[in-house]
Order: sequence, then C-alpha cells, then structure tokens
Amino acid sequence: MHTPITLSLAKNFGYNDFSGQIQGNFTLKAEGPQDLVRVIFLIDGQPMAETTQAPFKHNFNTDDYPAGVHSFIAQGYTASGQELISKEIRKEFISGSESRSQTAKIIIPLLGVVFGALLISALFSIRVGRKKLESLPPGAPRSYGALGGTICPNCGRPFGMHIWGLNMLVGKLDRCPYCGKWSLVRHQSLEALHAAEQAELTAAQDNRQFQAPSDEERLHKDLEDSRFQDL
Ligand SMILES: [Zn+2]
Repeated sequence: MHTPITLSLAKNFGYNDFSGQIQGNFTLKAEGPQDLVRVIFLIDGQPMAETTQAPFKHNFNTDDYPAGVHSFIAQGYTASGQELISKEIRKEFISGSESRSQTAKIIIPLLGVVFGALLISALFSIRVGRKKLESLPPGAPRSYGALGGTICPNCGRPFGMHIWGLNMLVGKLDRCPYCGKWSLVRHQSLEALHAAEQAELTAAQDNRQFQAPSDEERLHKDLEDSRFQDL
C-alpha cells in the first residue's frame, strides 16, 4: 500500500476557467510523506522537471507547449526507494489570443449587466423623483444630507443633493425637488444655503412663486423631464 502523493496546479498569472482551459504561468506542486526525497513532474508521460528540494514545485508556461489537452502526473520517491504516483491532472492549453477572447466573453457580458443595472436604477430614480414634488414652506430649516446642499438655479430654493444625481465634469445633474427642474448644480456653502432659505421668505412675501404648481405646470415639467430623458 503506497503512501499517497498529491499533485496540485496553481495559477501564477494568466487564464483558467471551470472547463479546464488554461493559459499563462502555472506552478505544479507535489506533496507526499515526510521521507519524500525526489519528485519528477511528467507532462503527457514525459519528464518536464525533476526536483530533490522540498517544497516540490515546478513552474511552467503553457505557451512553451503546443495547444491542446495535456496530462500531468507527479512521480515521487521516498528515502527508502518507494515509488509514488499521483493522480492525473488534465488541462487544455489555449493560446494567448484565445484566452483574451475567452476573457472578453466573460467580462463583456459582466460589464453589460453592471451598466444595465446602473441605467435601470437611474431611470427608476428619475421616475420616482418625478412623481413627487416636495412642498416645504419658504424659509423652513431642512436637512441637506450627506452629499451637501445646493441651490436650484431655476427657482432659487436650496435643497439637499441627491445620491442619484449624475456626476458631470462641471457639476452634478440633479433635480430640484420643489420646481422639478433638472440643472447642473454645485455644492454650496452653509452660509449660501441659509441665505437662500431667507431669500425664500422674502420672495414668498412678494409673490406666489413657491405655491405648489398647478396641473398644467406639472404637465409642462413632465415634458421638460422627458426631453431630458431623450438625451
Ligand atoms: Zn427649483
């Protein structure tokens, strides 16, 4: 009864997948009994390396061998001369260009899923955001949230920036929760935000600008929003 010797294959860099296709730099490693003194690594029954130093390892590159299916076996010898044979590992070597196209086959659909999810969440946010216009009395204190506050260039009311706002080079594309208008906004200082809250009060005394929009106004804003979505 032989003491077992086990052979394993680990990727250093390159490509491997569940179907057994590999490409790149790999290490074969043999582990056996304490008195293991010599290991020969075989590829397709032919010696590829021999080592008398533990840990018993051999580093190789698949590009040094023809493409196709190859088998590996570790053949070990103990100090007392007992011969040990590992189980066989079978792998299909593929070329560098094949591995790149295989990687693309995996990565590209993944990217598609990620961007699809981003797009769906952005569209969902726009729809949810469009449903409700907030009515907050002019000058009322409000929370600006973790993203900080900004001031709507359309109606001049300060609001907390939204997590679903789209980051652009020159600012963030966000929607004012009071007038429903999309615009490029930047972070504003607390002083500026408080000043804008005060300005709401002053303006409210002058006109009816901050009353909830009529149905006709809402329809108009929905049209504006859908114009934005067509972009
Ligand atoms: Zn506004």
